[in-house]
Amino acid sequence: MLLLNKVLDNVRRFSFSGGKAAWRPAMAALLLTTTGLRPAPYRGEVHAPAKPGAAQAELKGPRPHPTVEQGFFMFPIKPGKPNYLAGAMGELRPNHFHGGLDIKTDGRVDLPVHAAADGYISRLKQSSFGYGNVLYITHPNGLTTVYGHLNRFVGPVADELRKRQYEKETYELELFFDKDQFPVKRGDVVALSGNTGGSGGPHLHWEVRDADDHQLNPLQWGGFTEIQDHVPPTLQAFAVEPLTIEARVQNRFDKAVFVPKVQPAPGTAFAWPDTISAYGTVGLLLQGFDRFDVVWNKYGFQRVEVRVNGEPLYTHVVDDVPFPDGSRMINQHTDYEWRFTNGRLLEKLFVDDGNTLSMYTTGPNRGKLHVEDGKIYNVEVHMLDSYGNSTPLSFVLRGQKPAYYKTGSATVQRPVLRYDITRNILKIIAADPDTASQGANVMLYRGAKRLALKPSYTVQGQNTYLFDLRAGLPDSMQFGRTTRRFDRQAIIPAGEDFSFSNAHLNLSFGPQTLFDTLYLQTSYKDGLWTVQNQRTPLAQPLRMTLKPEQEVVDKERSAVYMINASGGRLYQGGKWNGNEITVPIKLFGSFRILADTIPPTVKLTRKSPAGLSFQVGDNLSGLSSYRLLVNGKWRLLRYEYKTATLFTDSQDHTVPLTGEAELHLTDQAGNEKVLAFRI
Ligand SMILES: [Zn+2]
Repeated sequence: MLLLNKVLDNVRRFSFSGGKAAWRPAMAALLLTTTGLRPAPYRGEVHAPAKPGAAQAELKGPRPHPTVEQGFFMFPIKPGKPNYLAGAMGELRPNHFHGGLDIKTDGRVDLPVHAAADGYISRLKQSSFGYGNVLYITHPNGLTTVYGHLNRFVGPVADELRKRQYEKETYELELFFDKDQFPVKRGDVVALSGNTGGSGGPHLHWEVRDADDHQLNPLQWGGFTEIQDHVPPTLQAFAVEPLTIEARVQNRFDKAVFVPKVQPAPGTAFAWPDTISAYGTVGLLLQGFDRFDVVWNKYGFQRVEVRVNGEPLYTHVVDDVPFPDGSRMINQHTDYEWRFTNGRLLEKLFVDDGNTLSMYTTGPNRGKLHVEDGKIYNVEVHMLDSYGNSTPLSFVLRGQKPAYYKTGSATVQRPVLRYDITRNILKIIAADPDTASQGANVMLYRGAKRLALKPSYTVQGQNTYLFDLRAGLPDSMQFGRTTRRFDRQAIIPAGEDFSFSNAHLNLSFGPQTLFDTLYLQTSYKDGLWTVQNQRTPLAQPLRMTLKPEQEVVDKERSAVYMINASGGRLYQGGKWNGNEITVPIKLFGSFRILADTIPPTVKLTRKSPAGLSFQVGDNLSGLSSYRLLVNGKWRLLRYEYKTATLFTDSQDHTVPLTGEAELHLTDQAGNEKVLAFRI
């Protein structure tokens, strides 16, 4: 208790007092611990870093990584000729920073892919998913180049792969090789380009990695003559966000997004025309894109620098991303929720709590800006691409201490009482047709205790109230005649093991599951479990156990499915233990337990001794395995999930396509389909 007292000492908190309402800092948090719900441990300024010591590490700036001389790597597609990119390093993709270059291949497959430097083939993987067919070449300097979405491998390594596939009777296979098995020389053709795995069109995905599997920007060492870029980044929008309970932007506790009326031309200095009022700890955010010469694709850009009154505040450079865990940290580097709710993808220009990437250079405030009353802050932002093209943005913040104010006198038609949570702050909006309620308090209740909150401001008849939830979670709130239940059930701290249980489910959080403190919200109704919402990112999978009300009869065929907004059902799997099922989930959302009792479907679409093709499908859980036997012998099939087709490889003559054939398919629920035919 004493320790907790000390830990919570600096938190601004307010008391729930019995009887008369009170508005004063107090020991509320301690009081609340006795009821079982505890405030998140206080570890820092407002939100705390997930790991102690992380703050110091981030002050060092980017981690040093190996460099090469310009020209060390040969361009792997059409070397010496003009080339174009479909994607650049560091682009903000769903759940990852793009880890390399997407090189265009004339809109077709089977372009020769050249080894970028001397070395040896250290690894290859044949797969229908992710990188698709992918080849790794390790170079004497310790760097590895990665060639993804290939159509096929060539030379002795391709023969070795086929041999091993027939030995193991599988298409999906990953092989690792020693230094002297498959050496290559700079410029050797090692593969043919393709569109395999998670690729949306023919291209080569090309990466450079260091010995620790960090993805390095291939354009950071002077670029390639094959790729020309004289086009600076384009500014789309910037934003300023209050980060603590006393902070304001334009007198409100809201992120303010500033969008130029006309999008400035690349490289044009853009100055926001109006001074922006702010106060307290605020964060800056940015949205933009880059272009290269000739083509019209939109790319990410690698570098952003922020200076305030001439002093450096913050820099990030996406030249080095630890793969794969660091790449998922993009959900903390960007404003995940804003993208989900507003469609606009904003990059934070500060290092948010729980972000452990090392691509930042900041002062002790980690890029957050403390705005003081009456002071002026001239903010300059530079957006830069890998070729050094730069676009400047500037705006002015003026410190203005908040005080209660009231604007407009709109007629309120019906009572309003709603809330939202940003970081640790509960924000309540309340209004009532009774004009006497303008400026009135909102009441928070917890058991027999209550707390009166004064409004922070009133705009158009709507009062805004702010409350730091680290003082504890209320049960309900009341304004005038309106009462609303508070739907968050627990405070889940980031960075440690934590379990939550109720009658319907268990959730087991590990130290890496969350980016930041979670105000947990779950519900259950008629076989539908909802855990939080899709606006909140998960850093690592969360272990979820569902407890159905009735005995599930066909457990063998029953699994957990995620139900998306349009009613789509996405197989998650699960392990049964009695009448409870446990599954790791990668995203928050809504879930059902469904039974799949229908086998996959299949249609033979091509039948000849030169090749076979099948169209496959499944009603619910999805295809899990496929196996073609010709005269009882296993025959290699390729699978393309994007077109739901299985087909024989035209270059593979290991087992002749004549005689009796059988295709065996199973779905993820274990239902089997056998198609027998004669070739
Ligand atoms: Zn790519």
